[in-house]
Amino acid sequence: MQYDWAEITSLAYLTLLELDLHEFPIPAKKIKCKDVIISSYQNYAAKTGLSIEEITLGHELEDAFLQKGLRPNLNLILYDKDKYGARMKHTLWHEVGHIKCNHQKHGEKEEIEAHYFAAQANAPNILIKTIAQRGYNIDVPFLMNCFSLSEEAAKKKKGYLSKYGFEHSNEYDDVVLLQFSDYINAKYPPKTLHFYDDYYDNLEREREKW
Ligand SMILES: [Zn+2]
Repeated sequence: MQYDWAEITSLAYLTLLELDLHEFPIPAKKIKCKDVIISSYQNYAAKTGLSIEEITLGHELEDAFLQKGLRPNLNLILYDKDKYGARMKHTLWHEVGHIKCNHQKHGEKEEIEAHYFAAQANAPNILIKTIAQRGYNIDVPFLMNCFSLSEEAAKKKKGYLSKYGFEHSNEYDDVVLLQFSDYINAKYPPKTLHFYDDYYDNLEREREKW
């Protein structure tokens, strides 16, 4: 299967820029998407008079799901309020990912893409890279604490970073970094004396690619 990871990363980063988010962890209630209503099953049931069983047709066991085509141009992401937490955030971003990637079906490829979108929106690689360059040790507890990831999501991210490091750069890296710069500077000031050396080395290396 062919995947365009850079494109999915761009979509996730554009979503963070569009939502005007400036710090992590992002509270679940700030996860939004244009033309999409995000509501709990419970709230939606109260509003529509439908029972939870009717609303969650076939999805009873899921934290959240995407409902398309109820009305033209209306997408609905419904989530189970009782399961609100770190895992839910990944799930909400996952559903937003389906919309942003313009998925028309729910196949294996679409699932993988939506998970990748969620992993980048929830804990952008460019921020992790910058924090690592400042001398912080990026392990599973760090990822859980910094981005309020679930243990499962933090392990997956750590696995990805062990495999690829920070070799994947993105066209929006600099803009995302700028948007979160106050947060990063306040919470993760450089620890190492080498920071600026590495930083300029990297700039130099970047330039060689031009
Ligand atoms: Zn999905």
